[in-house]
Amino acid sequence: APTIVLFRRDLRVGDNAALAAAVDLGSVLALYIHDEENENIRPMGAASRWWLHHSLDALGQKLQASGARLIFTRGRTRDVVARAIAASGAKRVHWNRRYEPAEAAVDAALKTDLREAGLIAQSFDGALLHEPSLLKTGSGGYYKVYTPFWRALNGGVDRRDPIDAPRSIKGWNGKFDGLSLDDLDLLPKKPDWAGGLACRWTPGEDGARQRLQAFEKDDLPDYERQRDIPALQGTSRLSPHLAFGEVTPFQIFAALHQSDQAGAAKFRKEIAWREFSYHLLFHNRDLRERSFRPEFEGFLWRHDARALDAWQDGRTGYPIVDAGMRELWQTGWMHNRVRMIAASFLIKDLMLDWRDGETWFWDTLVDADPANNPASWQWVAGSGADAAPYFRIFNPVLQGEKFDPHGDYVRRYVPEIAALPDRYLHRPWDAPKSLLEENQIELGRGYPKPIVDHGAARDRALAAYHSVRGKA
Ligand code: FAD
Repeated sequence: APTIVLFRRDLRVGDNAALAAAVDLGSVLALYIHDEENENIRPMGAASRWWLHHSLDALGQKLQASGARLIFTRGRTRDVVARAIAASGAKRVHWNRRYEPAEAAVDAALKTDLREAGLIAQSFDGALLHEPSLLKTGSGGYYKVYTPFWRALNGGVDRRDPIDAPRSIKGWNGKFDGLSLDDLDLLPKKPDWAGGLACRWTPGEDGARQRLQAFEKDDLPDYERQRDIPALQGTSRLSPHLAFGEVTPFQIFAALHQSDQAGAAKFRKEIAWREFSYHLLFHNRDLRERSFRPEFEGFLWRHDARALDAWQDGRTGYPIVDAGMRELWQTGWMHNRVRMIAASFLIKDLMLDWRDGETWFWDTLVDADPANNPASWQWVAGSGADAAPYFRIFNPVLQGEKFDPHGDYVRRYVPEIAALPDRYLHRPWDAPKSLLEENQIELGRGYPKPIVDHGAARDRALAAYHSVRGKA
């Protein structure tokens, strides 16, 4: 009988402990279950579904080349696993662990069911360098501050080597009523908005490996200096590959280990922020629903559908914010510096609830991540565990001038004002009327006027913050 191997956000054959252990035992029934039926599982956003489709396609081909087929299904995990056991006579089920609360609960219940039925259920590590339940502070709690977390992760965790992909897999060839990949219905219908994503990305394990190699060769040496410049390809862009488990942090650390580049130390610390987000998510089931700092639950967020629309569409009148929101829409990704600026603008300038922003990012990012997304939004809001203080409010003009000094990034995404000279690019409203006319720019017609005045909005946000702090 085969071992059933469940694939979820671990769409790879290399460094896949659950698969490698199954291959050692005999034949393998590889199964992908699209499970959005269990209570509390958050349906994936549209950009993630696009990525998932192509990543499953790539995984299916890779497994096929090694001798196994990937069976696609949808439904409740426990029901589909029961069907697969009935069809194949399998006595063992393997999977790599998940840390999102609802998903982890599904897996825990499955393990209990299978063991009660006298079957073997075995889970493996792979997604994280650390096991969130095992890494504890001196007093036995979990880490709420990044720096001591990083120290513990760096010094105290045994780091295994990545596991090689199996040379060949003995696939189970029995009959099972699966679906085709297209039946999972993951791709956008008309209009197909995914053209910009397809130009930019290569989902799948091979795409991830190529990205890692190219980053290590071209960008790692200067990573520390270039990572904050949104016009450059200075960061790894591994985030969607990590979010779908096409590459593991073990593989990344092993690749960096062989390099003594100056940027490697900084890059390891960024990967550790992802570990920290998962650590927080594991210990806080409602990280995306509730502010980590309870006083923020009393914050009087504004409700303003027009402002939210303007932010989502990249029409706030602040060029760096709009460029970021348009990069997101066109490519499914946004540079980290601009994510911080755009998020700060939503929360502090527009005073809209950080959860509105988190939801939009969840739908539009190809790297939408159950831990990184809410943890980062709470970090910007100031409501998070180890967060930037609320009163640190980004000035979108100064941020633009500092990190996009020649306007290369803004000109790429906001062509309406591309003709302006650098000095007015981040503050088009200050440009002399004659200059605007000369370049046929009419603010409020082509490109919008600012939807809020930053100075006044800043004062409003600080007053609201002081009032919740006063009540805490
Ligand atoms: P690199 O600089 O090359 O970093 C390598 C990897 O380290 C990333 O792929 C990521 O896994 C991790 N990493 C880097 N920075 C961070 C960070 N600040 N927090 C946590 N992990 C980090 N990241 C996501 O993966 N998914 C999200 O849904 C997400 N939402 C975000 C929302 C907001 C409001 C903000 C401010 C940040 C968010 N981030 C998110 C974190 C960060 O912006 C992205 O991880 C990064 O931009 C991805 O690009 P990269 O792979 O080129 O990064």
